[in-house]
Amino acid sequence: MKIGLIERRLHALASNWVGDKHLPTIIRQLNAAFEHSIIYFSSNRYEAEYYADHSVIISGQYCPRVRGYVPENIIISLSVPKEQKKVILSKKGARNLEMKILRTIVHEYRHRAQQRKQGTIDIKQYKPAKNIVGNLKRLMYYGMPDEIDAHAHETTVESAFGFLNINRLRMAHKISWRESEAIFMYRKYFRKSDPKVWKKFLKKVYKNSGVTNG
Ligand SMILES: [Zn+2]
Repeated sequence: MKIGLIERRLHALASNWVGDKHLPTIIRQLNAAFEHSIIYFSSNRYEAEYYADHSVIISGQYCPRVRGYVPENIIISLSVPKEQKKVILSKKGARNLEMKILRTIVHEYRHRAQQRKQGTIDIKQYKPAKNIVGNLKRLMYYGMPDEIDAHAHETTVESAFGFLNINRLRMAHKISWRESEAIFMYRKYFRKSDPKVWKKFLKKVYKNSGVTNG
């Protein structure tokens, strides 16, 4: 399924998300809308702090076809706070959710494109410098070339939704996670400890946005 069609199907559903909703209902609607695609939705719960209008956390995973066993698939997981029986979404919250689902799909589609090009996934690992500071697991994850590439593509969705103003890229050190989660994360983890990764990431963001890197 092409991204444009995914975007339209998602948008048609998102207008119904405002208010008190049961997560299984949202998941059912999503799975029905994406029946003839490789995308599947599932639900989860989490125990952690969250911000208003950002209570639903989205994660995704791309799995290439395993010959004779598993067809190629993308699993998108929607997680809600453990204590909440229902998802309560404001207009803003529903818009955030719509954007995040699309952003995650774009990210996973990028992994699919990488896999097709390379014939495998996550081949190159990131080797942090010996004196690097921060959460090592996170650094290893964000530092992988395939992740840098996939995260840089997320920003196209953030700017299409008007969350991120691409003209503010020159001020990338000031962009908040509400504008772009990927820019925020790469800056947080690499700007000081490994500027090469931060620059490589930004360069890809520039390239995807059509703005020339100056
Ligand atoms: Zn990824």
